Amino acid sequence: MTKSIQLKRDMLKSNFSGADNYDLVIIGCGLTGLTSALMWQLNTENKRTLIIEQNSYPGGFSTSYERDGYVFETSQLFPDIVDIMDYMGVEINLKKYEGDFMRRLVVDGEQVDEYKIPAGVENFTDYMVEHFPEDEKNIRALMAYGAEMFKQVRKLKSQSTTIDKLKIPFQAPRVVANLNRTYAGLLDKFEITNPKLREVMETFTSFGGVPADRASAIYTFGGMISSMTRCFRPYGYFDEYPARMAELFQERGGEIRFNAEVEKIVVENGTATGVKIKDEDGLINAATVITTVDVNLGMRKLVGAEHLPASYMEKLDKVVMSVSSINVSLGLDDKIDMSKLDLDYPYNVISTGLGTSEALFEGFLAGDQAFSEDCFHMAVICPSLTTGAKNTITLRCTPFALNQWKEWRENDYEKYKAEKEKWGDFFIGLAEKYMIPNLSKHIVVKDISTPATYARYSGSPTGSIYDMASIVSQFGPKRLPMKTPIKNLYQPKFAHGLYGTAMNGVQMVDLLLDRKFNNGNSLFAPIKR
Ligand SMILES: Cc1cc2nc3c(=O)[nH]c(=O)nc-3n(C[C@H](O)[C@H](O)[C@H](O)COP(=O)(O)OP(=O)(O)OC[C@H]3O[C@@H](n4cnc5c(N)ncnc54)[C@H](O)[C@@H]3O)c2cc1C
Repeated sequence: MTKSIQLKRDMLKSNFSGADNYDLVIIGCGLTGLTSALMWQLNTENKRTLIIEQNSYPGGFSTSYERDGYVFETSQLFPDIVDIMDYMGVEINLKKYEGDFMRRLVVDGEQVDEYKIPAGVENFTDYMVEHFPEDEKNIRALMAYGAEMFKQVRKLKSQSTTIDKLKIPFQAPRVVANLNRTYAGLLDKFEITNPKLREVMETFTSFGGVPADRASAIYTFGGMISSMTRCFRPYGYFDEYPARMAELFQERGGEIRFNAEVEKIVVENGTATGVKIKDEDGLINAATVITTVDVNLGMRKLVGAEHLPASYMEKLDKVVMSVSSINVSLGLDDKIDMSKLDLDYPYNVISTGLGTSEALFEGFLAGDQAFSEDCFHMAVICPSLTTGAKNTITLRCTPFALNQWKEWRENDYEKYKAEKEKWGDFFIGLAEKYMIPNLSKHIVVKDISTPATYARYSGSPTGSIYDMASIVSQFGPKRLPMKTPIKNLYQPKFAHGLYGTAMNGVQMVDLLLDRKFNNGNSLFAPIKR
């Protein structure tokens, strides 16, 4: 197939010098690897740095690809990481969403309730009060409490000294009080009981792919406030972001080696000393190694249990990885006028009512899925309204588990294709019924990603798209730490999403530089020079 569109990600080339000794080797050229690399370059001098990536392009999970003249993307929402981008010197043309943050349809039998959730915390609060006036007092109290809690998060250190730790109860009492609280628990605390109100408020846990009764209250509120205050998407395609970062890293003297799979992290006497590339004899030595791949892949396979303490392996065994997804990407003909369909929001979400996320997550935990006509949740995204390219729609459907998808793909391709088509038709049917009349008549190209697709491209053994699940038992200090039990080996997996990956890089480099960059802060507040 000839390619008619040149994506920025495909313009990047390896510039590996062939050296066998580096100050820093980063495994994975996704957003975490790239942010860590740029932050490191900006805060050190004369360090030899290499990123090793198994795919032929940068970006990992955040990418764009072409199918028959249509460009599809994985990501949809660009959170407010503008100050971090400025610091790194990454300039890309972003569209800022003014007005509404989300169009939300809640289906209950034949009834469909529609909400247009405005951007900005105050606007959102007023909107909810307008729709649920009888709950005004509780809504305002919840929002004020949450905003203050998020403010207190800013005061925390990601790397605390003993003195910092002693200060926490006074500086951030709300964070301490909510460390073990779920988002559902927080809604309960403020007596948000009206099922319709609660369903809209619970929308925000879906960003992390977990239901409200498992999501961390602090994490959910933080995500809600930070993403709805200011949110963006690129005017171009999403691959521009990693491509520009990779380009800058190379311009500043860094090396990237594409198409090279790390097979082993070399550990000698409890210290990481380098990596071994698959199908190669020699080793690449490194003073420091950072792994940004799925924690199960990184620790179980690349390091190996034989090098890790039993207590760490026990912790790893208990880690709940996040969900996987089915993405239905559609290229549409030009007879459909997308601008008339009221789709130009960062998110359009259609779901059944309260309890849906919990039921779907239970299905995922059981190793499968629980979608039906009466129980579903999906996002509908229309990138072409911004990019101006040929009409595209993406239906993003979580949670799915890897289940048999990998087995089918590898050993029974007909079955794999049939299952893909079945789920594609299911979600297209829902989008057609509730949001885009006659959608199926306009489809020219259909590209369906399954959990096996995500497992294949990322190397995640579970096809998890959001790293370790952001459930309350894996939040903050309870998450696997960046510092691993192996000396000189680090694993920045603070959180997922573009915001999470940016902060992974910030916190990672701050840790390597002993707080001399971000002063140990949990959010981005670099030391002024
Ligand atoms: C469908 C989808 C939609 C999303 N939408 C959004 C969104 O709208 N907004 C948002 O903020 N976030 C979104 N996310 C989440 C976001 O994309 C991820 O959190 C983020 O990209 C993760 O970056 P990372 O660098 O931590 O990990 P990854 O992207 O997984 O990067 C790890 C890299 O390591 C490489 N690798 C793995 N194994 C090896 C090996 N052995 N040797 C060498 N290289 C290896 C992989 O190929 C990959 O490039 C979405 C994710 C998905 C999948």
